[in-house]
Amino acid sequence: MLLSIVIPIHNEADNLRQLIEELRRQVPSDLDLEIVFVDDGSTDNSRDILIELAKNIPEIKVVALSRNFGHQAAIYAGLEMARGNAVITMDADLQDPPECIPKFIEAWKAGNKVVYGRRIKRENDSWFKRISARAYYRLLTVSSNVSIPENVGDFRLIDRQVVDCLNQLPRKEPFVRGMIAYLGFGQSFIDYDRPKRQHGETKYSVSKMFSLALDGLLSYSMMPLKIGLLLGILSIGTGMFFLFYIIWDTLFNNEVYPLYKWLVVVLFMFTGLLFILIWILAEYVSRTYRQNQQKPLYVIEKTFEAEP
Ligand code: UDP
Ligand code: MG
Repeated sequence: MLLSIVIPIHNEADNLRQLIEELRRQVPSDLDLEIVFVDDGSTDNSRDILIELAKNIPEIKVVALSRNFGHQAAIYAGLEMARGNAVITMDADLQDPPECIPKFIEAWKAGNKVVYGRRIKRENDSWFKRISARAYYRLLTVSSNVSIPENVGDFRLIDRQVVDCLNQLPRKEPFVRGMIAYLGFGQSFIDYDRPKRQHGETKYSVSKMFSLALDGLLSYSMMPLKIGLLLGILSIGTGMFFLFYIIWDTLFNNEVYPLYKWLVVVLFMFTGLLFILIWILAEYVSRTYRQNQQKPLYVIEKTFEAEP
């Protein structure tokens, strides 16, 4: 059995040696090991170090991307290169503890095709990251139509069958965990405390984090497109309420309303109509968008039939 470990690298020169040592220590000896490093356009000497390592250590393979394409793209690139019966993806900074690897493998051997690492504590992350992550996971769970597990990042093991599904996708969305949740298969969780980054600074700038968050939301939720409907109903409802009110007041109380008050009411109703028209457009857009994503409509895990 071959185990592949895919690790995206963006300027991680100081972490590489310790990482490799830890990995070799943790992987059970009955498995063959392959470590696929994806150099995602590093500007330090990570690439040279990796190439040097690959010359001397047969387990190490290097995929060098032509520039910085981002963490998620790098993971896809590594998955394409990996040959293992199971593939673990993890970060290079030892925030995904290699001690979990034996547990991942146990869960995989027990028949789970997706094993997630789940962060139970994130005391070492900044308060901004903790709060934003929490709010984001909630929003994603509430709004998306596949259930994307909470507190789960890109530290996970996936079986060859899932890797093949990912590799065959005609269009890859840059939010790997969403796609994996979409594909399904039996899954389990390994809980761990997220330690501090070993060396260097986070490579996820706020803008990169934001764009990943947006990718996740927009690819797996059509909820933002429905806002037009909600606003439309609210606006028309408000308009109607006030219209009836001033008609009643005029008829039965002989109250005289100046023209601008009538206009405000009419304005509410017309704005509402516009919102609804926008929502109708959005529904068409969402259908084109879904088609364009080219997600597989279904995934077959196994077929059963009687022996002839
Ligand atoms: N990374 C990458 N490309 C990028 C940003 C990050 O390949 O554009 C890699 C990085 O080298 C690390 C992993 O993705 O191995 C996770 O990044 P980081 O630890 O900076 O993220 P954080 O843990 O702060 O969320
Ligand atoms: Mg990190």
